[in-house]
Amino acid sequence: ALTAPAHSAAASEFLSRAPHGHLIGGSWQAAGETFDTLDPATGKVLAAVARGDAATVDRAVAAARNALETGAWPAMTPMDRAKLLWAIADKLEAHIDELAELETLDQGKPLYVGRWAEIPGAINQFRFFGGLANQIEGKSIPTSVNYQPPGKEVFAYTVKEPVGVVAAIVPWNSPLVLTAMKLAPALAAGCTVVLKPAEDTSLTAIRLLELMIEAGLPAGTVNLVTGFGRDCGAALAAHPGVDKIAFTGSTATGRAIIDAAKGNFKRLTLELGGKSPVVILPDADLAMAIPGAANAIYFNGGQVCVAGSRLYVHDSVFDQVVAGIAAVAQGMVLGHGLDQGTQMGPLVSQHHAAKVAQYIADGRKAGASVIAGGETAGPNASFITPTVLTDVTPDMAVVREEIFGPVVVAQRYSDLDEVVRAGNDSEYGLAASIWTESLSYAHRLAKRLRAGTVWINTHSMYDASLPIGGMKQSGWGRDSGVGALDNYLETKTVCAVI
Ligand code: NAD
Repeated sequence: ALTAPAHSAAASEFLSRAPHGHLIGGSWQAAGETFDTLDPATGKVLAAVARGDAATVDRAVAAARNALETGAWPAMTPMDRAKLLWAIADKLEAHIDELAELETLDQGKPLYVGRWAEIPGAINQFRFFGGLANQIEGKSIPTSVNYQPPGKEVFAYTVKEPVGVVAAIVPWNSPLVLTAMKLAPALAAGCTVVLKPAEDTSLTAIRLLELMIEAGLPAGTVNLVTGFGRDCGAALAAHPGVDKIAFTGSTATGRAIIDAAKGNFKRLTLELGGKSPVVILPDADLAMAIPGAANAIYFNGGQVCVAGSRLYVHDSVFDQVVAGIAAVAQGMVLGHGLDQGTQMGPLVSQHHAAKVAQYIADGRKAGASVIAGGETAGPNASFITPTVLTDVTPDMAVVREEIFGPVVVAQRYSDLDEVVRAGNDSEYGLAASIWTESLSYAHRLAKRLRAGTVWINTHSMYDASLPIGGMKQSGWGRDSGVGALDNYLETKTVCAVI
């Protein structure tokens, strides 16, 4: 039987304070109605969390509106806002082990994923956008109007203003870093926020807000409402007091968000699903490409929006690559995320693991061969063994739909045009990777693949400075990078006759 190793004192202290309430206008509320958040590896209850509803959302939006109109945050100098974002980053860094542990407990991921990739990634978001807080500039613009009164001139300029109250709605796969991707640029722009984490993973959002307040974030600047998507999330997305929704989640929910935003024409950025191709050319360095392609799909149990879930391998190396990835899959150590040697944890919930298992079963039925994995395991039936499917055809659900688990479908190709067509044959366009020693092929292929990010000889490499987001049904707009600040700004033109 699989048991959770003992929690650290810091994590135990945090969990012992449950039930955790909402944060509204700078004060933690009594929890009221709650729901349990579970350790997905064991199925045991970790803590009770407040279950928000439309009335909670109303109060949180009102607090964010009030903070926008009369609060300290928008009135602060840009340099003071920058200093606070850096202070938040320092605070998170001081609590990095605790945050990584809570993320593992709540989400299941191996500790090293949070400790060395995702929590540092969240910290970098606050540092990066802190650095941009005092670089929000307008322009003075020459005009050619010919009807100004004689003897007068036209003087015109633009200013950038915060878009207003932002609803940040985030998923469960990488909770803290995806939250930071919304909060850091929104705050740098001078917005106020209502944050709603995913119902499966509320814990690091709660701890983040505690730490942000300790760092000195003024009351009401960021409000937190925990709860379910169907009621609490839907109420937030439709709320007329919200000016902008910054959403990361599935394409299906993205569509519901578009509908909910219509009423008052909310601004939207949508970071949605993917089915990203990994293309291995005949000249690839296989010592790098095989572990690279395996990592592209098995990192975080495949619960990564950009996961390399469609593998296209040139005929000449297909058997070798598939055998190599199957060997990596079979050698992976599955276990509780807090166990030192664990390479893959459980999926986020038993419910999600059952969905992934259903995809594998349907793929089998449709004629796919399971070369590795394909099993459900663990005391909570929440583990899926790393899986490789071959003998798939482009029309199968396992090839077309986002499974969001450790399942790769491997297909062969024989020429470049064929792999471009196959790679682009998807409603998604989030990411792709190309594995080759030829710079020329790499860049020519990078140009032809319809994806928001193309990696060459790597996959899933992120940085706060690199725009990330999707073409086609993978979303609207980009998170990260200098341009993401504009997601949270409106341009105002001031035109004067002087
Ligand atoms: P989800 O769409 O089910 O939920 C995301 C968030 O939306 C949660 O907080 C949920 O409570 C909320 N929600 C659900 N229904 C809602 C509604 N009707 N109105 C408002 N809010 C609602 O997604 P998930 O299963 O939590 O996350 C996995 C998905 O996220 C995958 O599709 C993955 O590809 C995507 N994702 C995309 C990116 C990216 O950058 N493009 C990054 C990570 C994850």
